Amino acid sequence: MRYWLLSLVLMISAISCAGPSASVEPSVLPSPTLVPPTQSVALPTPTPKQSLPSPTPQFHERRLLGYSPEGRPIVAHRFGWGEVKLVLLGDIHGGTEENTYRLMSEIVAYYQKNPDQVSPQVTLWVISTINPDGLAHETRFNSRGVDLNRNANTDHDACPENDWSPDIFDSEEYLPGGGGEYPFSEVETRILRDFLVDAQVVISYHSQAGLVVAGGCGEGPSRQLAHLLAEATGYSEAHSIGYPVTGSIVDYLAFRGVAAVDVELINKVDTELERNLKGIRAVMESLAEIVSHEH
Ligand SMILES: [Zn+2]
Repeated sequence: MRYWLLSLVLMISAISCAGPSASVEPSVLPSPTLVPPTQSVALPTPTPKQSLPSPTPQFHERRLLGYSPEGRPIVAHRFGWGEVKLVLLGDIHGGTEENTYRLMSEIVAYYQKNPDQVSPQVTLWVISTINPDGLAHETRFNSRGVDLNRNANTDHDACPENDWSPDIFDSEEYLPGGGGEYPFSEVETRILRDFLVDAQVVISYHSQAGLVVAGGCGEGPSRQLAHLLAEATGYSEAHSIGYPVTGSIVDYLAFRGVAAVDVELINKVDTELERNLKGIRAVMESLAEIVSHEH
């Protein structure tokens, strides 16, 4: 055994000492397949970068605009995203015009069910109530005793009779102090003023006179809007509500070039949804005429 081992060791040593010149053939490695330089290598064509989905706004959005003095939310519903900002304003006179609040709620439900009825040119906004405290307390005024439709700054247009005044009239009485301490003294009217800064068409709903009344003091987009709405809804067009109105929101807007009108429902119960939908449809169909005026 020992001899066998020794001879094995000697044999291995002999092979090692023989070196590379020994009879062992160098193994032939397969040569790498080289691509001739003239041959273009077909690289995988880059697939066009997949565009990430852009954040598309929802068709219907419920937006919180702020809170009333008693902490009630003031909410606007948006439908669509067209160029023209059309705003329907409900219930500025709170509890005594509660049917306009219901009308706005019915209009919101209608456009939720019928999104195809919103013109692609329009961003439609609906404020069901700008006076939630008055609505809760069943009064025309806000919680500070101010008539919110007598609190806007209407001092700069051509008709002094609509200028803001602290002392006001409503359909029934003379109310010293009902216009607020100064124009836009109320949080609700400031929310409204700021929200409407880029509005082009505004329809403010009231009850009950069965009328359409243009904002401002003369011809212009508001008067044109009033003609159109009177024709489509069947309400009469009037130049005045029949008593002095100071600091009203549509007069403020008309001076700023907005097409702005008051619509008065016929009574204090019914919402008169169908005829008002007709009116809104007519406005959407005639936007080009209404908003072509310079702002
Ligand atoms: Zn009213």
